[in-house]
Amino acid sequence: MLEQSFKDIVLVGHTLLNARTKVFLFEFDCPVVVIPGQFIIIEFKTSNDSFQRSYSVARQINPKTVELCVSFKHNGKASPILFSAQVGDAFKASMPQGRFTLPESPDPNCHLVMIATGTGVVPFVAMIEHLLNVQKHKGPITLYFGCRTEAELLYSDAFNALAKTHNNFNYIATLSQSDWSGPKGYVHAHYLSDFANRPKALFYLCGWQNMVKEARENIKSLGYSRLEIKAEQYD
Ligand SMILES: Cc1cc2nc3c(=O)[nH]c(=O)nc-3n(C[C@H](O)[C@H](O)[C@H](O)COP(=O)(O)OP(=O)(O)OC[C@H]3O[C@@H](n4cnc5c(N)ncnc54)[C@H](O)[C@@H]3O)c2cc1C
Repeated sequence: MLEQSFKDIVLVGHTLLNARTKVFLFEFDCPVVVIPGQFIIIEFKTSNDSFQRSYSVARQINPKTVELCVSFKHNGKASPILFSAQVGDAFKASMPQGRFTLPESPDPNCHLVMIATGTGVVPFVAMIEHLLNVQKHKGPITLYFGCRTEAELLYSDAFNALAKTHNNFNYIATLSQSDWSGPKGYVHAHYLSDFANRPKALFYLCGWQNMVKEARENIKSLGYSRLEIKAEQYD
């Protein structure tokens, strides 16, 4: 891989979303271009170690500032550093990158289907807000978001609000360990039944390896080809 140059970034804000997830606002020292779905790589330095982690961009707040959403891993190396960072702390980060992005002019007759668990939903915030608010896309878009409990449903207020005002956007949140009035169980059963007749669709999958692997196999079993599936894997 080519060496890439890292820019200076400063933490300019952070908010706790639930017991183990935080939104972080980082300001670059120069304007950046974020294509919805892309991520940045942050470099972490300790007294005896240096390592990098990738984070999807949820939103671009202004030309220099991006919003990230990160969940805390108890035995993780990077997340404890991020979670104890204070406003004003400096890091280094790559420019936004990655090819987990939307088609330039999405076909309104092709259903855009996004499937996520946990923080895998983060790039879909950027994609869905861009499709509906910027591109005024009129084709069908469905987000399947699987979590254990209601508290883990990140960005739910934003997705519910978009679903209320855009009848081409369908938000299906499903909980596997909670008794609520909405859809229940793992995310897979829901898209498997909705797409059993194989309508024209482009699938986007994002999250940890097991979920992405299972979803990819399921979608192929419905008769879709690998060209109709795009995936971003977190490990
Ligand atoms: C392109 C890309 C975008 C990403 N975007 C985000 C993002 O927006 N938000 C975010 O929180 N993370 C994101 N990640 C993951 C992130 O880069 C880190 O890997 C993660 O936060 C753990 O880092 P850590 O150093 O705290 O833990 P590590 O020191 O890396 O240890 C965590 C260990 O636990 C495993 N692990 C952790 N959580 C899970 C899980 N839920 N399921 C299965 N295995 C797990 C990992 O494989 C690893 O072995 C992204 C990863 C990639 C590649």
